[in-house]
Amino acid sequence: MSKVEKNLFVVDLIDDLPGVISTFIIKVNERDVVIVDPGPSSGYRNLKKWLDSRGLRVRYVIVTHIHIDHAGSTGLLVKDYPVEKVFVHPRGSKHLVNPEKLWNASKEVLGEVAELYGKPEPVPEDKIFVPQDGEEINLGHRKFKFIYTPGHASHHMSILLLDEKVMFTGDSAGVILDVNNKIVQAPTTPPIFKPKLYLESLDKMINLSPKALYIAPTHFGLREPFDVLIQNHKDQTVLWLETISRAIKEGVDDINKIIELLAEKDNNVKILMQYGSDFLKGEFIVNSLLGMVDAIKRGEWD
Ligand SMILES: [Zn+2]
Repeated sequence: MSKVEKNLFVVDLIDDLPGVISTFIIKVNERDVVIVDPGPSSGYRNLKKWLDSRGLRVRYVIVTHIHIDHAGSTGLLVKDYPVEKVFVHPRGSKHLVNPEKLWNASKEVLGEVAELYGKPEPVPEDKIFVPQDGEEINLGHRKFKFIYTPGHASHHMSILLLDEKVMFTGDSAGVILDVNNKIVQAPTTPPIFKPKLYLESLDKMINLSPKALYIAPTHFGLREPFDVLIQNHKDQTVLWLETISRAIKEGVDDINKIIELLAEKDNNVKILMQYGSDFLKGEFIVNSLLGMVDAIKRGEWD
């Protein structure tokens, strides 16, 4: 149950990765719900059980972006529920309809983790709805505002639930996790990461939502205060990019050495490496750093 209000729910989807992948369920009518980031196919059983035990119907699905840990179960939802529309960024829509290429790319980038998330089912094209940047749309009695936030991915948007002052950030503002009872923030920036677009998107979110109080990152849950957490994350991302850029200039290329350098400057990294799960210490951090290293080597950060 959410502390914000009784019609917004956070569900933890993957039993093997507790506190890592959340989905957000917003009641918009007596029995109808909007789901933001329904999660990977492998979390669908938990999601369906949660919905069915409460007699809820999924009417709308919003995906912040098409990565399989966020949008993988969309096709399954459309099969089982009277879903009217699936909202997706224009650059992501064709991959929901035909997920084959996305699945192959996911296996390449994520390796075994892709299998843990599971293969996505296709979404029928007539369910796809592409909002404009800045568009406000009423779903049931709630109003959602769609904001394009590229950088983590070109097909990323963040969504403001206006009356509740909640911003669903997907991966556009990093992760905020409980690690050993400490709140840890970190960028999630796998290849192909675009640092300048990413930082611009953080500014855009701050400027477009002066009243937002809560941030809802898919990894994980509802957090506050919105403005402080976004600003911290912006400073952190710049610190990581500067540290890695300097390391590369000095000839340091080893990811473990880069993690050591970051842990000296950023307490979040220290906590993650000391207390984080194997997944967080391994795939998660390494993939983020690979994205940053790759962007720096492409000359996208000086
Ligand atoms: Zn992502």
